[in-house]
Amino acid sequence: MLEPLKVRVAKDAGFCFGVRDAIDKARETARQHGKVYMLGDIVHNERVVAQLQQENVMVVNSLSEVKDAPVLFRAHGTVPELWKEAAQKGLDVVDATCPLVHEIHTEIKKLQADGRKLFIIGDHGHDEVIGIQSQVPEATVISTIEEARAIPRLKQAGVVSQSTQMIENVEKIISILAMKVFDLRFVNTVCYPTRRNQGQIKELAPISDIMIIVGSFTSANTKRLLEVSLSINANSFMVESAEDIDSSWFDEAKSVGVSAGASSPDDLIEEVVEHLKNLHVQARA
Ligand code: SF4
Repeated sequence: MLEPLKVRVAKDAGFCFGVRDAIDKARETARQHGKVYMLGDIVHNERVVAQLQQENVMVVNSLSEVKDAPVLFRAHGTVPELWKEAAQKGLDVVDATCPLVHEIHTEIKKLQADGRKLFIIGDHGHDEVIGIQSQVPEATVISTIEEARAIPRLKQAGVVSQSTQMIENVEKIISILAMKVFDLRFVNTVCYPTRRNQGQIKELAPISDIMIIVGSFTSANTKRLLEVSLSINANSFMVESAEDIDSSWFDEAKSVGVSAGASSPDDLIEEVVEHLKNLHVQARA
């Protein structure tokens, strides 16, 4: 006999408030001014970017392409040079930087004012990390425990983290630095929507046969949520849409847990959940 798969969805799966607010600002500005420019994609999700393009939210690669409409600076922060360039060009800037990213900028500047050697736990080359690094004259990015082990002994250091880091990775790196730095100050700047998402996955993963994480393969945040899920449940899969779901994953399954990266829109998550609800599995004897 067949019965429906039991589907549990993480309560706060999907857009964090920082991304939601940035998208709302982009839409609102485009409505008011006929269009708005954005330096790079607003979120790492192709579907969202394509939808916004239809609403005249235009992606550009440099400020020289901005003409006759405001430019929106994205949620994960913008380097001071671009702010300066925009001011010199007299551009109308809509600041969609997430307040929690602003907080990281403030914290790293305070640590610098303290005269500490600075570290950022984060992904090399990620825009948010580049934005944090650009707030101070010098800060070293550490992304792995191997990199933390290579840091020499120091008298004083200050550490912040990228907002979307995996909590366990941050803890491991901090415990290594604590052995090397005499006076270590760590400000935990993993943002609360990230902590909440990771926490909800940790609750769902042990009680679900399969875990599905919805998000774009280009989203570092989604990949990290998959890592969290995989650390608890080996049957964890990342999908960009319902089309990526392979029904054979559910041959032995009775239940599935669903979460999504901070850049995954609600309609995409709903589509995946609907698809899963329509999958039927063998009833338990
Ligand atoms: S992930 Fe956190 S810091 Fe980044 S935009 Fe979302 S709420 Fe803000």
